[in-house]
Amino acid sequence: MSEQVLPVLPQFAAKAYVDQAKYRQMYQASIDDPVAFWAEHGKRVDWIKPYTQVKDVDFTGDVHIRWFHDGVLNVAANCIDRHLARRGDQTAIIWEGDDPAESKHITYREMHAQVCRLANALKTQGVKKGDRVTIYLPMIPEAAYAMLACARIGAIHSVVFGGFSPDSLVNRIEDCGSSIVITADEGLRGGRKVPLKANADAALKKCPGVKTVIVVKRTGGAINWVAGRDLWYHEVCAQAAADCPPEPMNAEDPLFILYTSGSTGKPKGVLHTSGGYLVFTAMTHQYVFDYHDGDVYWCTADVGWVTGHSYIVYGPLANGATTLMFEGIPNWPDSSRFWQVIDKHKVNTFYTAPTAIRALMREGEAPVKKASRASLRLLGSVGEPINPEAWLWYHRVVGDGRCPIVDTWWQTETGGILITPLPGATPLKPGSATLPFFGIKPAVVDANGAELQAPGTGNLVLTDSWPGQMRTVYGDHQRFIDTYFSTYKGCYFTGDGCRRDEDGYYWITGRVDDVINVSGHRMGTAEVESALVAHPKVAESAVVGYPHDLKGQGIYAYVTLKAGIEPSEELRKELVAHVRKEIGPIAAPDLIQWAPGLPKTRSGKIMRRILRKIAENEHGNLGDTSTLADPAVVDDLVSNRMNRS
Ligand code: ATP
Ligand code: MG
Repeated sequence: MSEQVLPVLPQFAAKAYVDQAKYRQMYQASIDDPVAFWAEHGKRVDWIKPYTQVKDVDFTGDVHIRWFHDGVLNVAANCIDRHLARRGDQTAIIWEGDDPAESKHITYREMHAQVCRLANALKTQGVKKGDRVTIYLPMIPEAAYAMLACARIGAIHSVVFGGFSPDSLVNRIEDCGSSIVITADEGLRGGRKVPLKANADAALKKCPGVKTVIVVKRTGGAINWVAGRDLWYHEVCAQAAADCPPEPMNAEDPLFILYTSGSTGKPKGVLHTSGGYLVFTAMTHQYVFDYHDGDVYWCTADVGWVTGHSYIVYGPLANGATTLMFEGIPNWPDSSRFWQVIDKHKVNTFYTAPTAIRALMREGEAPVKKASRASLRLLGSVGEPINPEAWLWYHRVVGDGRCPIVDTWWQTETGGILITPLPGATPLKPGSATLPFFGIKPAVVDANGAELQAPGTGNLVLTDSWPGQMRTVYGDHQRFIDTYFSTYKGCYFTGDGCRRDEDGYYWITGRVDDVINVSGHRMGTAEVESALVAHPKVAESAVVGYPHDLKGQGIYAYVTLKAGIEPSEELRKELVAHVRKEIGPIAAPDLIQWAPGLPKTRSGKIMRRILRKIAENEHGNLGDTSTLADPAVVDDLVSNRMNRS
């Protein structure tokens, strides 16, 4: 859509690790000889026993993926201990509380003691290498300590987002069979209390296998206490020694299980292992965010999502970075909060999601301009396609036109960023995730699996492995094979549609399941949605297909208007005409429903499969809705659905 190209800023290229020529040379080397490339870059982490094997991958048959598989390391030691000599007193985590008056700096040395104590406490509770530990915590430093304490002793963590309900927690505890849960009395978000312990108590009635619950005292609110099962975090840690030798782990020993966000169906228990994951997250964090010593880096994701795992905790800490962890929400106490935090902590790199950008854009420029944002150097986006309109606003208003934007495409399954600009190397196109990272071999295939050689649109696959790739679906390897390796033989299927343009840039067009076919023309949802969002009165939009007698499928658009705009028949016509002009008559919506809100996962992604059911008049059968953020939104949409002709 937007064919605007923003050149690399010379002052950025001058300081960056990689410029355009170096990107081309390194990328080519990584594709020509992946074993040599990764043999070299695997050395960026500390190995207790160095690897002699680099890659052992088969995408066919039973599918196996192994990297650095005779190497031995400890992930927590890489994220903490190895930094102590040089940067023990440097801030590892800046924690910004929900309350703007509350924040603290935690040094690498302090983090070492905290993690060791908890690791010893877990051992005392009988946790051993390979055991699963469920972490159900708010955005407090203890969440990072808990992940690292597991890594230190070789336990496998499963972090469950603190906003999930008791039932979602039950499913995730049962699926991985954990016998210990780490939670808090209550969380704090936007001035409101989240009853984590009460949720855990409700869940654990259905989880007889859980014998121990460790409780962080966050608010001091009144909670129920089960004697013999519940333990205070601060008490078990106080009783534990402040030194715990890291467990030597094979590169392929599991590090964590994490469930996908569920925007396309029942969440999958994605398993990541130790060596390759750490190498890949550390390397992408350094190059994509052009991270230099002394930078203050902020990723706004929750640690309950893969973005929080890879780019709040593991990648940054492996690099000895200063990473900011935010307990609150973007619009509390007011919608200037993000920008206030940036000024307060002199944040250089800011990484967030399109859903947050669109929500803040709705509020206009004034809340952004209340802060100077003078420290900002680089912006990032992840989670959904970013509409060009939102991209340009982010660039112009938040970044004052001087900060490159890295639009990073990846998945829980990929462990780290796969398609992305490098800020010193890649000319930017608003709305495109641009080019593959080192070692990544994307291909665009048609419905029959034939690879497109020229520019064109199709399904996005990856024809070779990378070290951060998931290894299996926990406890269900067959589901792993069926989901990712059976659609296109010998390739990893991403489930996403995409267009590759004349410059080889990738544009994610949305989920393949969401592709609309109007009179034989296949269309991604992203393009139509972006056209709608480009209209000055539209804040957000989601587009799905519905059965149409003449066209096969018609276009059904859900539209959220900007604050203060009233819906009208006239505006409906205006929007149809607008899309017609922007894309063409074929893309003109047949039906537009005004949506005060859209159904989203708790990580902020639009759940089109639910919108499709409503449009198809099949709302009796919405599928798995356990990860839905606000079920009331769906009720409103169902009762106001448009009658189809
Ligand atoms: P499930 O697999 O259970 O349906 P999910 O796919 O929403 O859940 P994630 O792994 O969190 O869970 O999301 C990955 C997906 O998010 C990608 O497949 C893609 O559709 C979308 N995505 C992430 N980043 C981008 C981006 N920069 N541009 C476009 N799409 C993106
Ligand atoms: Mg997915």
